[in-house]
Amino acid sequence: MYDAIIVGARVAGAPVALLLARKGYRVLLVDRATFPSDTLSTHYIHQPGVAALQRWGVLEAATAGSPAITNFTMDFGPLVLNGWGPACDGVLEGYAPRRSVLDTALVEAARAAGAEVREGFSIQELTFADGRVTGIRGRERGGTTVTEQGRIVIGADGLHSAVAKAVHAPAYQERPVQACYYYSYFSDFGLGTAIYPREGNVAVHFPTNDGLSVLAVGWKPAEFARVRQDIDRSFYAALERISPALSEAVQGASRAERWTGTADVPNFFRKPFGPGWALVGDAGYHKDPVTGYGITDAFRDAETLAAALDAGLSGREDLEQALAGYEQTRNAFAMPMYEFILQLAAQEAPPPEMQMLLGSLVGRPEEITRFCGLLDGTVSIPEYFAPDNLQRVIAGALTPAAD
Ligand SMILES: Cc1cc2nc3c(=O)[nH]c(=O)nc-3n(C[C@H](O)[C@H](O)[C@H](O)COP(=O)(O)OP(=O)(O)OC[C@H]3O[C@@H](n4cnc5c(N)ncnc54)[C@H](O)[C@@H]3O)c2cc1C
Repeated sequence: MYDAIIVGARVAGAPVALLLARKGYRVLLVDRATFPSDTLSTHYIHQPGVAALQRWGVLEAATAGSPAITNFTMDFGPLVLNGWGPACDGVLEGYAPRRSVLDTALVEAARAAGAEVREGFSIQELTFADGRVTGIRGRERGGTTVTEQGRIVIGADGLHSAVAKAVHAPAYQERPVQACYYYSYFSDFGLGTAIYPREGNVAVHFPTNDGLSVLAVGWKPAEFARVRQDIDRSFYAALERISPALSEAVQGASRAERWTGTADVPNFFRKPFGPGWALVGDAGYHKDPVTGYGITDAFRDAETLAAALDAGLSGREDLEQALAGYEQTRNAFAMPMYEFILQLAAQEAPPPEMQMLLGSLVGRPEEITRFCGLLDGTVSIPEYFAPDNLQRVIAGALTPAAD
């Protein structure tokens, strides 16, 4: 009997396994993938996520070969803001390591901490007794079906979580899909890290391993069928529309890998716990990837969940109560961020108040830093958008110099 069985060994599952195993729990971590491997995702990590990697002692391995990022451009078209967000726990840098590097480092750290890791292992179903999840049934590739029992089964198995489906985890705060995306990797791309929100499009780029840069473009979801018919043409036409300077920079670069795209980016929260089960990462909370916050969220929730499980499994606290605390902590952070992300993903002109706010930031590095902190999760969204603070920011704008 395991203390915890975790299904899914990437950025949500591996940290939970690592943290529980370090506390001395008997942990089984399974994934149908084998590592190192890539997955459908770009991989920007904001400062709070990098700080988590540092706390866990895996920062060096997880970011090996990927450059530190300390500069960010928000290009709104007529208005361009350049700066960097505040440090988190003394960590100033962002990183965007390939998932093949990041996820492998986390799996290896979980294994080194004492978790039993089974790669190439698919779960087929959960086992139940008296309305409670008691374990998993599944098999390794080419192997026979085995049943494993655990005090808790954790679904870290992504957007289409089989664990969430088996326990009928209720979804809430569901919102329509806002965007579809295509991305690839480019060599000899001269620009750093930037986002370009536009009406009907959004583009982002940042550097990663092997001297490559990720370049992604988003369209409205209804465009997906058209875009996928001729990705090259749609991609470069969108870049030209978004920013001639960006388009020119891409013309001087070479695409080094195939296109990857998706319109499967729904927005929802799921109740992340019940009798004998819990959910973490995309399995419990999925949103549009425009701000690249899924990994940073997964790290934070993995740590909160591991602490709640430790409290519950050790008997220091009632397990259900501890898990209810996990859901509250997740939602208190994630819900304001959710609304902010969805606005950005909608690819609509910013409302007049937002335009006024953005305009007031020009030439004020400290205020740009605070605004960047909204995207990084280091500045509280409710506090920033409180009327008093908005008034302070806008009233403090520099008046134009007289000719
Ligand atoms: C286009 C795109 C771009 C993105 N860009 C960024 C970005 O720049 N930064 C960022 O932070 N986030 C980004 N995200 C979001 C990010 O990819 C996710 O938030 C993150 O991968 C969630 O991690 P996870 O561990 O919860 O799930 P996943 O990474 O989906 O991992 C789930 C794992 O579960 C395993 N699994 C599933 N079912 C089973 C089963 N039945 N049996 C065994 N194993 C199973 C899978 O093999 C997989 O390895 C992006 C997403 C998309 C779609």
